[in-house]
Amino acid sequence: MLPHAPLTETIAAYESELDQLPVLSALGLRHELVVEPLPYKLFDAYGVQVDLVRADQLHPVISGNKWYKLKYNLLEAQRQGCHELLSFGGVWSNHLHALACLAAALKISAVGVVRGEEHDVATNPMLLEAARQGMTFEFVSRQRFRQLRDDPFAMASVGRYLIPEGGDNPLGVLGAASMVHCLRCDVSRYTHGAVAVGTGCTYAGLRLGLPSQVKLLGVSALKGAWMQRAIAEKMTQLNVPEASWLLSTQHHRGGFAAVDESLLSFITEFRDNTGVALEPVYTGKAMLALIDFIQQQIIPSGSRVLFIHSGGLQGLRGFKPPLEPNPDIPDE
Ligand SMILES: *Cc1c(COP(=O)(O)O)cnc(C)c1O
Repeated sequence: MLPHAPLTETIAAYESELDQLPVLSALGLRHELVVEPLPYKLFDAYGVQVDLVRADQLHPVISGNKWYKLKYNLLEAQRQGCHELLSFGGVWSNHLHALACLAAALKISAVGVVRGEEHDVATNPMLLEAARQGMTFEFVSRQRFRQLRDDPFAMASVGRYLIPEGGDNPLGVLGAASMVHCLRCDVSRYTHGAVAVGTGCTYAGLRLGLPSQVKLLGVSALKGAWMQRAIAEKMTQLNVPEASWLLSTQHHRGGFAAVDESLLSFITEFRDNTGVALEPVYTGKAMLALIDFIQQQIIPSGSRVLFIHSGGLQGLRGFKPPLEPNPDIPDE
């Protein structure tokens, strides 16, 4: 249920076009997103009800938010008659992994511009699987990667459709907004939403899709005060009232993909008590942030929270048992 009629209509138009694509049925990607209650003692103790959006169960490879950010971009690429998709990511990028799988299904070629060293392909299951789907890679230094992030058109060529890192463009945001459309429940009954933030594309889309009285908590997986400014800028562009959003830049636990013992034992404890698997890069930190906000009563007793499980469990293989941080994962 969306409050803004024009947005709803735009999404409905894209969705009916998407229905024409055999890729959906071929991959078994469903339209509906499951929402289920998340019973957990601590939530009960604070009188807060939390429901979980199971975007993690969408597909084993194109997990969570990645499908939503990519789907309208795929349509646009087809409209433009492009024969190649190009995007950017790190060596453990869930985004490139999902893109490789979708491009293979659509029989379009795909190029991943990867921040890192060539030798990573052989040892990295994410890159290896993407390569097996036919993705080719261009490995660039961190410095070059940053330059390209600011000017992706340096990679432009005829028939090539460019997708920024993390799928963060207007169609990515619109696709993320469509997650709300796929919920099939009355979202206006929630007081809060909560989701992990990388590029902030999913966050921006959800913010656009949710009614403004649902305050959306974003939890940055990256370190740095710049994130607050970047998200504030996005919110201003989208005309989001200040009271409708809240970003934590304090729950990254040392930086992107940084893990520690207490995060890992929380993930284990949470899985044992709820049956829900989280991963340490995004969703584990986001859930800990939610708990922190509930304990601080920033999310007060009586609140009803919609937590978006954005997936990412395939990237867990970046962590060797018992989930040691992988040295290849760069600190942003
Ligand atoms: C990629 C990813 C995110 C970040 O999404 P953005 O739209 O870039 O903010 C969050 N959670 C998971 C599990 C992801 O894989």
